[in-house]
Amino acid sequence: MSAKPDRSVAQEHGAAPPAGFVPLAVPYLAGREWENIKACLDANWVSSVGPFVDRFEGVVAAFAGVKFGVATASGTAALHIALLVAGVEPGEEVLVSDLSFIAPANAIRYCGAWPIFIDAEPAYWQMDPNRVENFLQKRCRWTRGRLLNRTTGCRVSAIVPVHILGHPCDMDAISALARRFELAVIEDATESLGARYRGRNVGTLGDIACFSFNGNKLVTTGGGGMIVTDRVRWAERAKYLTTQAKDDPLEYVHRAIGFNYRLSNIQAAMGCAQFERIDEFLAAKRQIAARYGGGLSGIPGIQLMGEADWAASAFWMYTIVVDRRRFGADSRRLLTYLDRQRIMSRPLWQPLHRARPHRGHFAARFPVADALYRTALSLPSSVGLDASDQDRVISTVRNAQSAA
Ligand SMILES: *Cc1c(COP(=O)(O)O)cnc(C)c1O
Repeated sequence: MSAKPDRSVAQEHGAAPPAGFVPLAVPYLAGREWENIKACLDANWVSSVGPFVDRFEGVVAAFAGVKFGVATASGTAALHIALLVAGVEPGEEVLVSDLSFIAPANAIRYCGAWPIFIDAEPAYWQMDPNRVENFLQKRCRWTRGRLLNRTTGCRVSAIVPVHILGHPCDMDAISALARRFELAVIEDATESLGARYRGRNVGTLGDIACFSFNGNKLVTTGGGGMIVTDRVRWAERAKYLTTQAKDDPLEYVHRAIGFNYRLSNIQAAMGCAQFERIDEFLAAKRQIAARYGGGLSGIPGIQLMGEADWAASAFWMYTIVVDRRRFGADSRRLLTYLDRQRIMSRPLWQPLHRARPHRGHFAARFPVADALYRTALSLPSSVGLDASDQDRVISTVRNAQSAA
């Protein structure tokens, strides 16, 4: 078996691309990561308990501005536990963004619940509150104090707005609907650590929220995640479920099915070092976005990434929309052209209503997600991207037009 990783797979995990390539989003490890990890090894605290785990939970909670953080093995694990803690039961339905990485839909299914996909709005590509309202008003009814989907008869119990690519969802509209229809709000903030909505931090806008520290995210622990919430009972329950639901530390008594979703002390040590520089990371992302905004403006058929006036985007992954007719090539041809010039780029995710394991649960149309899937392309956005490499990306996009 070949040990050589596929380039696209390596990208997904934030690994370095082949030499000479401008990568999409790779870790930036220039702080105290090594020193902190060495401290774990020197102290023999290498596993799932240790001082860095507690510290990291405190650091992330403080940064988000919530009371509690519970570290997890991944962002997906964080979503699974957050849904359980929020009370999602088997057979229920959960609203979730259609245009998203697949993890939140999978996490809903881990709970035995079903996703109801909601299309994106066209301006900022986030969950469309009008479509949420439409579904809740027209497709649901109240029966004995429970909100039921008219078509399936299933209870609708929660909503997972996914803040994609660094930009927040329009949370006032979504929260108002969640209150009116008594839905728990679980924010998937895995791509938008550091983003703000009307001056409030992403991660504080619902009942509970999740972050990811995968290799391609703003902050990485190699792999990991975090649940954040202000609710002490939910935080305690989350800790309990992520650590095998131990009811007696000595006697191995368990009253619930738990999970081994812990983050190791070594990973947390890396996370603590990363967070020391998060303000620089966010500033770098904003600078990258501004440089793309300037350099790519005025190219016919290239639409730039937006930022709502009510938002401060974290610009995790800078993404453009390519109009095939006006640009002269479609997003996939531009991708191939960039690849030949040793520049990584990638389309957005296949909309989740088309994903084989999830499709068919709910018939609706998703014109915005479907169009963005065809037309959007994410460009190199690593924190460490230097200006000359970025200028090469910009000029290559420009040249692609004349070459098309
Ligand atoms: C990265 C990501 C996650 C979590 O990913 P992990 O790799 O499990 O940490 C969840 N949702 C979205 C939208 C993501 O982009």
